[in-house]
Amino acid sequence: MSEKTQPTFLCDAMLGHVGRRLRSAGYDTLIDGGKLSDDELLKQACNESRLFLTCDEEVHQMPRGADVLYLPENDEESWAVKLARNAHVDWMLAPFTRCLDCNTQLAPASEDQRALMPENIKKYGPPGIYCRTCDKLYWEGSHTDRMRARLQKLKDLANA
Ligand SMILES: [Zn+2]
Repeated sequence: MSEKTQPTFLCDAMLGHVGRRLRSAGYDTLIDGGKLSDDELLKQACNESRLFLTCDEEVHQMPRGADVLYLPENDEESWAVKLARNAHVDWMLAPFTRCLDCNTQLAPASEDQRALMPENIKKYGPPGIYCRTCDKLYWEGSHTDRMRARLQKLKDLANA
């Protein structure tokens, strides 16, 4: 699947948890660190053709060039469904292909990087994945099983 055909996102700082969930599903998502004004965020979204996600109804109603989707901050069911219906988000698109912390696409770990993984994981576990920006190794385990189950739950909600 070509990445270009997938929607990309810019989240306001209040929706960081939604942004991380989108990253875990494989979507290119920037999360505002709280430094930019609403105008600057809208401009960036417009320039980079990203859908701007906000939980601020006033921003949602501002005149703008960018596409904006209003999401309720704490209603998981509501934002999961809205993103699926309005932005065609598939919550199981490509789990764990992006770094949750920085949005970089993860790459298979090299032999040298694998050597740094815990012995039991190295011996029996699947190959690790690596974020070159954070210089961090990830691997499958109970943590990723839980996250995959949460993504599946979001997908089920959206399909219900
Ligand atoms: Zn990273």
